[in-house]
This record gives sequence, C-alpha cells and structure tokens, in this order.
Amino acid sequence: MSNVIKNSSIQLLNDDYQELQDKSAQTHIIRVAEAVADAVRSTLGPKGLDKMIVTSNGQVTITNTGTDILQKLHINDPVAKMVIEVAEAQQLEVGDGTTTAVIFASELLRNAEKLLEQNVHPTTISRGYSLAADRATEELDSIVRQIDVEDVDMLRSIAKTSITGKHADANDDHLSEIIVEAIRSVTVEREEGGYLVDDPFIMIETQVGDSPKASELLEGMVLDKSPVHDAMPTTVEDARILLFNRPLQIEETEVSATLSIKDPEQLKNHLKQEEKQVQRLVQRIKDSGANVVLCQKAIDEGVQAYLAKEGILAVRRVKREHIGFLREVLGASILSDVDGLTGRDLGRAQVSYDEQDGLLSISSREDKAHGVTIILRGATDHAVDELERGIDTAFNAVSQAIMDQRIVPGGGATEVAISKTIRNDAEEIGGREQLALKAFADALEEVPRVLATNAGFDPIEILVALRNSHTENGETAGVDADTGDIKDTFESGIVEPARVKTSVIASGVDAANLLLRIDNVISASHLDETEPDDEKDSSVLSHAPEDVWGTPYSAHEDLRE
Ligand code: ADP
Ligand code: MG
Repeated sequence: MSNVIKNSSIQLLNDDYQELQDKSAQTHIIRVAEAVADAVRSTLGPKGLDKMIVTSNGQVTITNTGTDILQKLHINDPVAKMVIEVAEAQQLEVGDGTTTAVIFASELLRNAEKLLEQNVHPTTISRGYSLAADRATEELDSIVRQIDVEDVDMLRSIAKTSITGKHADANDDHLSEIIVEAIRSVTVEREEGGYLVDDPFIMIETQVGDSPKASELLEGMVLDKSPVHDAMPTTVEDARILLFNRPLQIEETEVSATLSIKDPEQLKNHLKQEEKQVQRLVQRIKDSGANVVLCQKAIDEGVQAYLAKEGILAVRRVKREHIGFLREVLGASILSDVDGLTGRDLGRAQVSYDEQDGLLSISSREDKAHGVTIILRGATDHAVDELERGIDTAFNAVSQAIMDQRIVPGGGATEVAISKTIRNDAEEIGGREQLALKAFADALEEVPRVLATNAGFDPIEILVALRNSHTENGETAGVDADTGDIKDTFESGIVEPARVKTSVIASGVDAANLLLRIDNVISASHLDETEPDDEKDSSVLSHAPEDVWGTPYSAHEDLRE
C-alpha cells in the first residue's frame, strides 16, 4: 500500500532472518509501540487533526478515528499488531476512546524503558502497573457521577464530547440532539433493573449534498427508493405493508417452459393465461388488505402494472437488512409466497415518498416508535463518511452511559485525578514498584498533554495548571480545548462514560505487561515459507512496510518526576 502517512523514524524488522534479544528486543518493542501511537496522537481531542489514508488501489479515507486509521494502515509488524489490538479491543468493548487507549499503552511502554535502563526487572514493572491499575479503578469509582437516563442535557453533553473533532463542528449541538433522541427512543428498562439500548433499531442513512445541519431523525425508517411504477400512489396514510423476500413474478413452471408456439391464436392464449396468473397474484395481495409492498427482489413488469392498477404502492430491491428492520419495527412477517397471506402478516404504518430528495419514509403508527432512522447529511462523500463514524462513536458513548449510568469528567480531568492518587500511593509503597506506579501516573498525564498540544496550547503549562487545580479544588478540573482554560469539566459538559476510562486502563496495562515480558523477537519470514501465502501475515514474526508511520511527536520535554 502507499500512504500519505510517511516517516522514517523507526526501524522495523526486515525480511531476512533477524533476532533481537533482551535489550534490543525491548527497545524494538517500545519504538514500535511509540510509532503506532504517533500515527494517531495528533487526532486526539476536539482539536485533533485528521489523517488522509490512501490505499494502493487509490481509495482515500479522511478520518480522525483511531481504530479506523490503524486498521487501514495494514501493518504487519507483530508488535505493532499487538498495540493495534488495544484499539480494537477498546472499540469492541466500549466503542469510544480508541486513540486514548493506544496512546496510554504506548506511554506505559515508553516510561517502562526508563526503568529498564535503571535495571528494574520487567516483572517488577508489570507488578507495579497492575497494582496501579487496581488503584486507578478504585479512584475512578470515587470520581464517577451517577446519571439519570432522563437527564437529556447530560446525555447530549456526552454525545457532544464524543463527536467533537469528527467533522461535526458547528453542528455538534444539532447532531447530539438527534443522537440522544434516537437512543432514548430505543432504550428499554430491563426487568432485572437498569436499561438496555436496543441499538439495532437505529438506522443511519447517509445523503451527500447538504449541510449536516439538515440531518434529521425519523421515526420508523427511510429508504432511498421510489415506487416502482409511475402510476402508483406516493402517499399511503393508513398503509398495510407486505414485506416480501422473493421476486414478485409468476413462476416459470406455471407457463410451461417448453411451449412451442405454432399459430397466433396459441400465443394469444398463452399471454392471456400469463396475465391471469399475474392478476391472481396481485388479487391475493389485495385481498389481504395490503396497500404497500416492499419487495427484497425484482418485481416483474406485468406485476408492477397490475399493482399500480390496484392502487398498491410497491418498491423493489429493498435491502435485506432493511426488510428485517421493518419486520421488527412494524411487527410484520416476511413472506416468500403469497399463498396463505393474511392481514395479520402486514405491518401498519404511514408511507410517503418525497420526490425531491428521493426518499420513501415509513413511519410507524405507534405513538412511540421502537425503531428510528437518522438521515445524515453532509457536503461530500468523505465528510459524510467521517460524520458517520463520529455519530457511531457518540452512539456508543451515550449507550454506555445509559447502560452503566456512570460518567466521569473529560478534558484530562479524570486522568490527572487518578494520576495524583497513584503518585501519592507510590510514596507509601516504596521499593522499586513505586517507580512503576509513578511511570503509570506519568502515562495517564499524557492524555491532557496531548489534548493541550493538539489544541495549540503549551502542554507543560496546561499540565502544571491542571495539577495545581487538582491540589486546590478537587478532581474535576480539566482543560477546555477551545480556550485552554482549566475548568470544572463536569460543570461545562465535557463528560465521558466511565467505561471508556476503565477499559483504557485495563487494556493499556494488559498490552504493556504482555509486551514487557518479551525478551526475544525473532523475525524469520523463511520459517513460514511452507505456509500458504495468506497465512504469512498471521505469523508473529512478520514485518510491516517501511513507510507507514506518522510523523514523530516531539512535545516530550516534560514534567516527569
Ligand atoms: P478517542 O479515540 O480516545 O475517543 P477523541 O479524539 O475522541 O479520542 O478524544 C477524546 C478526548 O477528548 C477525551 O479525553 C475527551 O475528554 C476530550 N475532549 C472532548 N471534548 C473536549 C473539549 N471540549 N475540551 C477538552 N477535551 C475534550
Ligand atoms: Mg472519542
């Protein structure tokens, strides 16, 4: 692949047999982890910049999302892959905080290097990191605030904190509102207590060519489809919808496939017979009471004409997932045969086709639809794609907050608070493990440092100010990336689900500890020459292309103790 992200700051293993041991193995691992983090570091936070990734087939992605960048780089280096897995695990478990997770894991390794240089044993560092992670979780518990799922303003703040930097810009208020409304409409109370966000019932349809401000939320769903025949109605108020997953046509076998036509009379008869069958098919549909047909496959021309004649609105080639979604939302059945079709199989809704934007909307007639569609609009394909990723992340953040009901202050506040506690603990613990605890505390502070750097502020000044605030007035002081001010981020609505942070800490420590225990990296592509080509990648000993790394980050003169 070729790519816009280039660099030469890191030596990846080459194709020949190569073995790195002890110190050089550790150095290699740490350098690679740093390089992975450097590829995403500049995207962190609301002022983070985007990456443009161009694959070898010319496909361009412009993105600000950590996992997206790392996955698209197709990195083969085994160490790099392990760091990327941190982001993937974070994505899977929480769906937000991927960049933070990678930066934190890499920082733990970088800080461990200094301890290794002082001959602190890797297992001592690991132990210290695990201890610190436990303490961090306890401290987190003391910072979290419970939220009420009815607290719409708070939920919007969570959405907004998550979506900033993802091309939402001036529209983040509007989009956050849509996100929260959509989620609330599919949130159900669990019998055993708590809430469940039924996210499969939220659909996102994208449309290019308008401002994100024009994005909207519809109850039910919209299809980028038009009625299949001009003479069909475009609006059906009291729609009874048939969902059909096979072609709407008369069966080939019914019209004798081997027919040989000798005279015009015979042909006429044959056509008549065919027409009758079409008529019968449409009549069956009509008899059930259906006045809208959504078909997953094609609709025969003859059938189209008869449906139109009967005043039935029909749409063809509706995606399977959409048919499935509608079944749930409307409580309809999906049929593959009209035999036995009854009114009970149909879904009730209001259907209307908007000629101007070419969308067919199907809104449930229930008061509160359990199934909504977001029509996401943006100026260009790239903009819409990135917005969609942003919306997705914000969905995850809000869903996590609703299900867990615990939130923490953002803008680095949580990281600085935990860092402070762990530094205090380190004093008490003493011994060599205390060094690891301090290294952990430093690693957490990388988050506000990078947030400040990306927003154009001096990371050292910001960190000093943050630390001072935390000594003076509690644990909610974070940096506002817009102004560089230190604020109570709970108060100013820069808030995140607690699970983002617990997962960042757990996966960061796991990855760092795993990598710290490696003292031998063997690169030997010829060792797996007997394996099929596509397996080579999965070897722990494979290699990355040399030009995939981001520009090295330089703001590291710092405050470490
Ligand atoms: P990630 O992939 O880790 O979620 P993001 O680019 O989404 O990375 O950035 C998340 C970080 O940005 C969090 O630490 C969050 O608290 C912070 N953040 C979000 N909005 C603001 C803001 N207005 N001011 C300061 N920090 C913010
Ligand atoms: Mg995020």
